[in-house]
Amino acid sequence: MKTYRIAVLPGDGIGPEIMQEAKKVLAVVAERSGVRFVLEEGLVGGAGYDAYGTPLPDEVMKMAAASDAVLLGAVGGPKWEPLDYSLRPERGLLGLRSGLGLFANLRPVVVFDDLIAASPLKPSVVRGIDLLIIRELLGDAYFGKPRGVRGEKGQRVGINTIVYTEAEIRRIAKVAFDIARTRCRKLLSVDKANVLETTELWRDVVTEVGRDYPDVDLQHMYVDNCAMQLIRNPGQFDVIVTTNMFGDILSDEASMLTGSLGMLPSASLGEKVAMYEPSHGSAPDIAGKGIANPLATILSAAMMLRHSFGMADEAAAVEKAVRAVLADGARTEDIRQEGARIVGTIQMGDLVAERVRAFKA
Ligand code: NAD
Repeated sequence: MKTYRIAVLPGDGIGPEIMQEAKKVLAVVAERSGVRFVLEEGLVGGAGYDAYGTPLPDEVMKMAAASDAVLLGAVGGPKWEPLDYSLRPERGLLGLRSGLGLFANLRPVVVFDDLIAASPLKPSVVRGIDLLIIRELLGDAYFGKPRGVRGEKGQRVGINTIVYTEAEIRRIAKVAFDIARTRCRKLLSVDKANVLETTELWRDVVTEVGRDYPDVDLQHMYVDNCAMQLIRNPGQFDVIVTTNMFGDILSDEASMLTGSLGMLPSASLGEKVAMYEPSHGSAPDIAGKGIANPLATILSAAMMLRHSFGMADEAAAVEKAVRAVLADGARTEDIRQEGARIVGTIQMGDLVAERVRAFKA
């Protein structure tokens, strides 16, 4: 029997509650498809600090590195805010990202027909939106040196360095082209090549990689125009690939097209093990109340099925189940709508799991 080892890291706040529901759905997928998921749980973030004095215990890092994929809930909360930066829950997350060499961050932005009213934009602009932003995660000004603030001629000067090697650009471009091939065979690369030499190189290398993908239509766009087009006409986009800093900003902008934080999954891919997590945080304000929306975590598990295990049909079944449950009128508090049936975290997980079970494998 095909077996996959999943490092399950629920984290803090609502993390354990939403993770429980993703596990429920994965159990049904295993039943249907005949694969075996071996789930190994670990404590990270504030939970890791409370138990072991560190947000990323060595054992957890080893377990994650030896797994086939990592599924993470969320980390953080006011309880740990007074801690030194090196011990904060968020450090655990950064440690996992760099320890696993996760260089490509994938953020799908899907506007579900039944939640269209949650978008701050007009329904005519966002109906049918299904785009994917691929952000480079380990380069750019976030890691480049020299960096810092220093005194120079009687005043302070701040410096950050934007740097990309050809190899870094090439590997993210390959991921983007491969994924574009599984979708509409359209890829948009976003840069600022008219002003920044680094992104002139970015444009050149992406174009070179594109020669190996003649079946994918490659376009380029400057980042300022892209920021504007995402609001004006987001329907023109399918897959967007961009640098760390531009991706940081554009992915948050694009996520707001949906208007519902509890619905947005994400994936971070590396050389070997990938990590999947909802885009939202640990929501300490609602933790323990049984009202958190588990759908972003369930959709993150679907991304894991597709990208790490090659189970595209099962991933699609989970995504279809989420759509069906929403179409039936079930809503958690955060996506409450007039006339809808309000359900809790557990019930939402049950409804999705039942739907997945009901679809023919
Ligand atoms: P947040 O995303 O946790 O919450 C923002 C708002 O959205 C809150 O009102 C919350 O109740 C709501 N919300 C978020 N997810 C929800 C869900 N699934 N269902 C229903 N409502 C949901 O952001 P925040 O309040 O700024 O941060 C809280 C903590 O989470 C902080 O400690 C922060 O550092 C951490 N954080 C962690 C991650 C991560 O683990 N990847 C990401 C962002 C923030």
